[in-house]
Amino acid sequence: MSPSKVSTIEFDKFYNIINGQQRGSNEIHHGVNPATGQELWDVPIASDKDLNDAVEGSKKAFPAWRDTPLEKRKELLLKFADLCQGHSEELTKLLCAETGKPKKFAGIEVGGLAGSLKIPTETFEDDEKKIYTEYTPLGVCGGIIPWNFPLILSVGKVAPAILTGNCIIVKPSPFTPYTGLKMVELAQEIFPPGVVQAVGGNNELGALLTTHPDIAKISFTGSIATGKKVMEASAKTLKRVTLELGGNDASIVLPDVDIKKVAPEVVMGAFQNSGQVCVATKRIYIHDSIYKDFLQEMVNFTKSIKVGNPDDGDNLLGPIQNSMQYEKVKGFFADSKAKGYKFAAGEPDIASSKGFFIQPTIIDNPPSDSRIIAEEPFGPIVPTQPWSDLEEVISRANDTNTGLGACVWGSDVEKAMKVARRLEAGSVFVNSWEKPTPQAIFGGHKESGIGGEWGTTGLLAFCNAHVIHVYKDKN
Ligand code: NAD
Repeated sequence: MSPSKVSTIEFDKFYNIINGQQRGSNEIHHGVNPATGQELWDVPIASDKDLNDAVEGSKKAFPAWRDTPLEKRKELLLKFADLCQGHSEELTKLLCAETGKPKKFAGIEVGGLAGSLKIPTETFEDDEKKIYTEYTPLGVCGGIIPWNFPLILSVGKVAPAILTGNCIIVKPSPFTPYTGLKMVELAQEIFPPGVVQAVGGNNELGALLTTHPDIAKISFTGSIATGKKVMEASAKTLKRVTLELGGNDASIVLPDVDIKKVAPEVVMGAFQNSGQVCVATKRIYIHDSIYKDFLQEMVNFTKSIKVGNPDDGDNLLGPIQNSMQYEKVKGFFADSKAKGYKFAAGEPDIASSKGFFIQPTIIDNPPSDSRIIAEEPFGPIVPTQPWSDLEEVISRANDTNTGLGACVWGSDVEKAMKVARRLEAGSVFVNSWEKPTPQAIFGGHKESGIGGEWGTTGLLAFCNAHVIHVYKDKN
């Protein structure tokens, strides 16, 4: 098995990566720097033929990669993580340019590239037989990526797919194609041709992956609406799907919290990455005995948040990533204003903004059927409501078709955990805002997804169960 090499890695030229080679295209598109509104570098749009060639490349690479011992696959993954770390400065620059996120947060995303786990096997034995439950790779997988965390969400699919012996073709979001394509290009230094590939392109190319007869699984992260289309299209070939979709996370603040300590943390949960996080806090329920004081602390912290360019070290938040999302988020501000809701942290002057910047704000106690409570804004605006009855607030928190994340804050951890167990969400955080990690499966209840990624269960989602029943005394 000889690792392939692309000729040179330049961080201002972007290619599809097919069969270990850089490949351009007659059709191109480009991202837009959301902090400046300027067009970024050209990116190729992959054709049907490019995708078919990538699938053929993966099919060819698959048998040898599947049979490569797990320890060797792990070793190569760790080498790959080192290689990416060696280019962390260039990757951070690219990530800032395509997403607008402040440099220190882009650095954290680039720093989170490693993460390897064990694949379990189980055995069962009685007098008659021994049963070996093993897990084998699926074959060629497709990874479809959104624009909010273009690098870590790509790596979060590539690492478990190839660790478990699959080959994977990554399709980045057309809004943020740069770091995903470059990460896959770097991977050619380490892995054999066809094991990790990338095709640049738009939504139509994503749809082509979901119908391709030789792709065994789609790991999709994105909106609920698109997730449903992916599942429907994948049904035609009974592809396995993992769907990581949107959410409307509730954060419940119990009466015994340390207000000064907890209020800024709750704000961070809502406004991390300018609220453009699937598991950002999107509804905040504060016990009515502390509502006024807690909200005041949240407002104080929110007003201190600096929003601006990635390069200014003081900025906590960058812009909204693209103009489509910017317009969508502005709709939530306009709706809240039109309905006369109270802007607790002030109403930002969005019209004067250059780039897609929005100063974050808090909507004080809008009605439960308001848009800002019922829908996912995916931007820096969050509602708060008081509560007095625990059962009632739990049912308010669960009153949604989504169930991705949730938070419970309280000094009595046992009590907070009891509440956490009642919340219908894939990941519930006690005394922290939402921080998913590769050490545990991450997935959604209800319409927030199917299956999950990361953790041992996430690894198994890239596998077929393969059970060998061996009967004794029959030979
Ligand atoms: P999106 O659904 O618009 O796009 C995601 C990806 O799907 C893009 O690469 C896009 O090109 C592709 N795509 C579009 N139409 C397709 C189709 N018919 N078939 C196949 N692929 C298609 O989502 P987005 O706007 O990029 O991301 C924001 C959404 O993603 C939010 O709702 C957010 O909550 C969700 N999200 C979820 C998670 C999670 O892990 N659960 C993480 C990040 C974002």
